[in-house]
Amino acid sequence: MSVELTVPDIGNFTDVDVVDVLVKPGDVIEIDAPLVTLETDKASMDVPATTAGKVTEVLLKRGDKVSKGSVIARIESGAAAAATAAGAAPAASPVRAATPASNPAPAASSASPRASASPAASASPAASASATASQASASPQRADAGRAPAPAARADHMGDTVRMPAPRLREGEPAGDGEGRQVQLLVLGSGPGGYTAAFRAADLGMKVTLVERWGELGGVCLNVGCIPSKALLHAAKVIEDADEMTERGIVFGEPRLDLPRLRAWKSSVVGKLTGGLKVLARQRKVEVVRGVGRFVGANVLEVLGANGAERIRFEQCIIAAGSEPARLPGLPQDPRILDSTGALELPDVSGEMLIIGCGIIGLEMACVYDALGSRVSLVEVTPQLMPGCDPDLVRPLERRIRSRYRHVLLNTRVAGIEPQAGGLRVTFTGEKVPEPQLFARVLVAVGRVPNGRTIAAERAGIKVSERGYIPVDRQMRTNVPHIFAIGDIAAPPLLAHKAMHEGKVAAEVAAGHKSSADWRVIPSVAYTDPEIAWAGLTETEARDRGIAVKKGAFPWVANGRSLSLGREDGFTKLLFDPDTQRLLGAGIVGTNAGELISEVALAIETGSDAEDIGLTIHPHPTLSETVAGAAEAVAGTLTDLYLQRK
Ligand SMILES: Cc1cc2nc3c(=O)[nH]c(=O)nc-3n(C[C@H](O)[C@H](O)[C@H](O)COP(=O)(O)OP(=O)(O)OC[C@H]3O[C@@H](n4cnc5c(N)ncnc54)[C@H](O)[C@@H]3O)c2cc1C
Repeated sequence: MSVELTVPDIGNFTDVDVVDVLVKPGDVIEIDAPLVTLETDKASMDVPATTAGKVTEVLLKRGDKVSKGSVIARIESGAAAAATAAGAAPAASPVRAATPASNPAPAASSASPRASASPAASASPAASASATASQASASPQRADAGRAPAPAARADHMGDTVRMPAPRLREGEPAGDGEGRQVQLLVLGSGPGGYTAAFRAADLGMKVTLVERWGELGGVCLNVGCIPSKALLHAAKVIEDADEMTERGIVFGEPRLDLPRLRAWKSSVVGKLTGGLKVLARQRKVEVVRGVGRFVGANVLEVLGANGAERIRFEQCIIAAGSEPARLPGLPQDPRILDSTGALELPDVSGEMLIIGCGIIGLEMACVYDALGSRVSLVEVTPQLMPGCDPDLVRPLERRIRSRYRHVLLNTRVAGIEPQAGGLRVTFTGEKVPEPQLFARVLVAVGRVPNGRTIAAERAGIKVSERGYIPVDRQMRTNVPHIFAIGDIAAPPLLAHKAMHEGKVAAEVAAGHKSSADWRVIPSVAYTDPEIAWAGLTETEARDRGIAVKKGAFPWVANGRSLSLGREDGFTKLLFDPDTQRLLGAGIVGTNAGELISEVALAIETGSDAEDIGLTIHPHPTLSETVAGAAEAVAGTLTDLYLQRK
């Protein structure tokens, strides 16, 4: 029987833009499979299928405008009966809609014998997990993998985009008075913010329930962010280091890539950490509920999981639902156009690669793909690589990049991408733009969007900003006092360590302790080659805000350790208050800058001045001596360089 799938009631909206068409003729879909993505000026939403079957015709395309009742597609629902009979409970779709078999989730690959047997699991951030405990975690991990695929399992490379479940609520339905069990503290999202909050609250004696839509705990950071990217950056560094040794007398030859093994190693790193989290949750008796959570009231969250919908009534809630990659409007749907999640899967690394967006994530992925053999081009709409970072810190990186990459296009926009058989034809607009170029792949790394508009926050009365952030106070409370928000969903900067700090604060406040967030020093690190790190006040900020600073700088060309590593391109700068000589901020560029920045972060936090840092005996020869040297330059005690007296 032919069935028309139409746009349901989408509130008071008419002529809503179709920004994505997610099915094509021939697809066999289940109930709740997302059909199209619609975007209003308030939010984007996926329209789910209300009947299962085989798609015979798709009547919409990107750019169309639709209202309630517009026909999206026709399906032959003969297959529907089979699909529904196979147990397609409507509520199960958000988790099952993706195709687990098509692409193993991180969990699946981490269940490889190497990963599960490795005692190194105990050395992960989930450090307390013993070797035995981490082995114990291997089997549930495997069991979960089929049920709720982690984001990497998505076949369409749309990253970790939230697929909205079929709305169960209708306008006017009384919010939040439904059935459901009661929990003391509910944490929504298990990224670094969520798991830290859950564990801290449990340690403080609270009964905690953690709701997560993915098969693995750890959020973006562990599954598709910080950790897999750093594993690949390490691989890139090994290649680069080996190459640089050629002219110093050790020749390794051309690296040979075994991509499946590289992917498996990366996944095993992820698996050790996510497995460790499971153990830590169990040890703390944190209950983990799998499914997509949406508020139905100020004290009730509905969770749509593999076994249907469940309402959970909570006394307090911490929202830690994170963010997802921003999309560029108007791009065609093509598997060769990747977001960061897709790029971390290393679909292929040969040929020309264009990276749109030169923030930290774009530049880190550029490092990886360049080292693995892609010919990389960069395009950035602002005049500077890594916008927001002091320009002098970026310069050594830019010099290196310009000598290696094909194009570095600043002040330039991508005007369009046309999929062709031989590649993606990209046209640019800007001052000095090249002719349209063909690329094998394009990575869109234009930032991330907080998930504030995907959790029905309005049903709990929670304010959400236009951009999707949930405003909070220093106790991490939203405008609804018993509901907190932390991490990416609360405010920039979108960094894991900020999320963790906020997670602890929210948990402590929820448990009745006096605690408040202190955002004075949030270090930023780009794990590029060379690395760039900064903390506290930047020079740009000091200039913009009219803050007087006294700067001490130490060039790494005068540092023995740096020269012995074969690198001279770094420098360390410290910014002091000219009156008190206290450290206000610091910037470092060079190998391992990300490790070095912690010393200055601590120095700022503890109110150290130039003398304190200079008088601290730093081990020799180390890169950390450059921190002492920059302080001595201000204290007037520097002997490693000759500075003319003023
Ligand atoms: C490629 C890449 C590299 C990065 N590298 C770094 C780095 O080196 N250092 C750094 O500090 N930061 C890095 N980041 C940023 C970092 O990953 C994030 O800042 C951090 O993960 C935010 O933590 P969070 O807890 O706020 O949210 P997230 O990690 O985004 O976790 C949110 C969790 O909530 C779940 N969730 C969302 N909505 C729902 C729902 N409705 N129901 C149930 N569950 C839900 C998600 O599935 C997810 O597990 C990187 C990001 C990317 C993409």
